[in-house]
Amino acid sequence: MSRVAILGAGVSGHTAASFLKKFLGKKHEVVVISPNGKWNWIPSNIWVGVGAKQPEDVTFELAPVYKKAGIEFKQAKALGIYPEGDLQNNKPFVSVEYTNEEKTGVAEKVYYDYLINATGPKLNFAATEGLGPDKNSLSVCTVSHATQTCGELKKMIQDMKKGKEKRFVIGTGHGMATCQGAAFEYMMNVNETLVKAGVRDKAKLTWISNEFEMGDFGMGGISIKRGGYITSSKIFTESLFAEKEISWITKAHIVKVEPEKIHYETLNGDFKELDFDFAMLLPPFTGAGLKAYDKKGEDITSSLFAPNGFMKVDANYATKPYEEWKSEDWPKTLQNQIYKNIFAIGIAFAPPHAISKPMKSPNGTPIFPAPPRTGTPSAMMGKTVALSIAGMIKKGDDKPVYTASMAEKGAPCFVSIGTGFFSGMAASMAVYPVVPDFKRFPDYGRNISLTFGEVGLAGHWIKTMLHYMFLYKAKLKPGWFFIPE
Ligand SMILES: Cc1cc2nc3c(=O)[nH]c(=O)nc-3n(C[C@H](O)[C@H](O)[C@H](O)COP(=O)(O)OP(=O)(O)OC[C@H]3O[C@@H](n4cnc5c(N)ncnc54)[C@H](O)[C@@H]3O)c2cc1C
Repeated sequence: MSRVAILGAGVSGHTAASFLKKFLGKKHEVVVISPNGKWNWIPSNIWVGVGAKQPEDVTFELAPVYKKAGIEFKQAKALGIYPEGDLQNNKPFVSVEYTNEEKTGVAEKVYYDYLINATGPKLNFAATEGLGPDKNSLSVCTVSHATQTCGELKKMIQDMKKGKEKRFVIGTGHGMATCQGAAFEYMMNVNETLVKAGVRDKAKLTWISNEFEMGDFGMGGISIKRGGYITSSKIFTESLFAEKEISWITKAHIVKVEPEKIHYETLNGDFKELDFDFAMLLPPFTGAGLKAYDKKGEDITSSLFAPNGFMKVDANYATKPYEEWKSEDWPKTLQNQIYKNIFAIGIAFAPPHAISKPMKSPNGTPIFPAPPRTGTPSAMMGKTVALSIAGMIKKGDDKPVYTASMAEKGAPCFVSIGTGFFSGMAASMAVYPVVPDFKRFPDYGRNISLTFGEVGLAGHWIKTMLHYMFLYKAKLKPGWFFIPE
C-alpha cells in the first residue's frame, strides 16, 4: 500500500487528490493537508467583491466531501518536508500543525510515499509598505478579503448617492506582482456595479499596474484573433477601458500605500503620487514558506526551493539572459529532480523565468509582471501528476510519464464585465500556449487559431456556467470526472 500526501486543497491540490483517489481506489491512501477547512472557487471571489455572490456561494466544507470520497483530510498547515525521514525513522514525512478548532497547534508527522506540494501562493502584502487589507488597501484574493472589499464598495456607493465624488484605484500593488487578469476583471465589475447603482458619474476609475503596457497580463502581451482580424491584447484592453472611461497607469511599482495616497515609482525612475478613496491592489506572490530538512535535521530548503519559495521541479533553472530562454525550459512532469517522489503543481512550482521581459528602473527597481498561474493549467497539472503518481505506484517506477507544461497547455480566460442573464457581459480570451513558443509559432509565439478574444453576452453565460460546473466538480458529485479541467 502506498500513501500519497497532498499539501494544499486549492484548485490544483484538490484536483490531484480527487483523481488520485479515483485512480488508486481503496488499496492506497490519499491524505490532504490544508489549513483552511473550506474549498474556495477563487475566480468567483471577484463577484463576492462586488456583492454579486455571497461567500457561501463560492465555498464549501471539505471534510464531508473527502470523507465520502475516502480521502483523509487533516486541517493543518505543513511546515517542513523531511524527504529522507529523520534519525528515528527513514520514512519521509511532513511536519504539520493543526489549525482546526479542536486541535489548534497540535504538531504531527505525516508520513508519505509520494508528496505533492500544491500550497499555492503566500500573498506577500509585506513586500509593499502599507499594502493589504490589514493596512491601507483592499484585496479580493480570499473570500474574507473579497467580503471586506465589498463592504467598502457599498460604503463608497452610499456616499456617492449623497453626491460625494470618489476615486477608485485598482491594479497591482508591487512591481513584481502577477494576476493582472483578476485585477482587470475586478475593475470591470466595479465599473458595472457603479453603473447599476446609478453613481458612475461620481466615480473616477484608475488602473495601475506593473505591466509595460496594457494587456501584458504577465504573458508579454498576446496577439489575438478577433472577428477575423488579428489585434493585440493592448488594443483589446485599452479599448475596453476607453469605452468605459477608465484611465490607466502602467510601468508602475507601488512603493508605499498610505491612507488615501499611493506612492509609486515608474519604469523611467520618476516617483509619483496617486490619491484614492478605494484601492484594490493585488499583492506579489511568493511560495508558502515551507522548509526542508535532511535526515540529520540540517536545513536543505535551498536545494528544494527557489529563493522565492516556490519548489524546484524539472525545469531548466540555469541562469541565462531573457532572450535565450526557450519554451522547453518550462517543467513538464513537475517532478522534483532530487527527490523523485515529490512533485509541485499549480502556483507552488518555481517557474524557470519570466514571460514578460524583465525590466528595471534607473534606480534598479524591477518593474515587470511575474508569470501568471491561472486555474486551468493549475488543475491540469493536478490531474497530470495524479496520473503519473498512480502509474508510478502501479508499476513501482520512479519515472512520471504524463506531462503538463505551460508551454504546451493553453488557458481560457473569461473576464466578466457584469452579471445578469441578459445584461451580463464578458471578455472571453483563450491563449495557446501560455508560454509563447516562437520556434513552433514564429509569427506570434502562439497558435493564432486558438488564441482569440471576443466581448459579449455568451462569454458571461460561459463564465456563469463554469462557476456552477467547477463547484459541482469540486464537490465530487456524480460524474464529476467528466467535467474537463
Ligand atoms: C481574485 C482572483 C481571481 C482569479 N480568477 C481566475 C480566473 O478567472 N480564471 C483562472 O483560471 N484563474 C483565476 N485565478 C487564479 C487561480 O485562482 C489560481 O490559478 C489557482 O487558484 C491556483 O491553484 P493552486 O492550487 O496552485 O493554489 P490555490 O488555489 O491558492 O490553493 C493553495 C492551497 O494551499 C493551501 N496552503 C497554503 N499554505 C499551506 C501550507 N503551509 N500547508 C498546506 N496547505 C497550504 C491553501 O490553503 C490552499 O488550499 C484568480 C486568482 C485570484 C486571486
